[in-house]
Amino acid sequence: MVACEICGADVTGGSAFTCTYCGGTFCPAHRLPFNHACPNIEEWKHSKPQKKKAPVVTRNVPVPDDKKIIIAGGVIALVLIILALWFFRVF
Ligand SMILES: [Zn+2]
Ligand SMILES: [Zn+2]
Repeated sequence: MVACEICGADVTGGSAFTCTYCGGTFCPAHRLPFNHACPNIEEWKHSKPQKKKAPVVTRNVPVPDDKKIIIAGGVIALVLIILALWFFRVF
């Protein structure tokens, strides 16, 4: 029987994972270096692909024309309302 070095789960057949950094045998839940307090966790951290750095995709997100029309419409409506208020108050 092959057992996980952390929890002792039977990982005979298929589900055994060998840590490439310390050579230990672990179950799927403990296979990652930070899950079994891997002695070589620093090495793992450095070798990890940096997920935080997302590929820089220069995206120019133009405002859809629909939105422009809605915004313009809203502004015009607002101006008209203000003008109407002004008109009725003055006259
Ligand atoms: Zn385990
Ligand atoms: Zn390890």
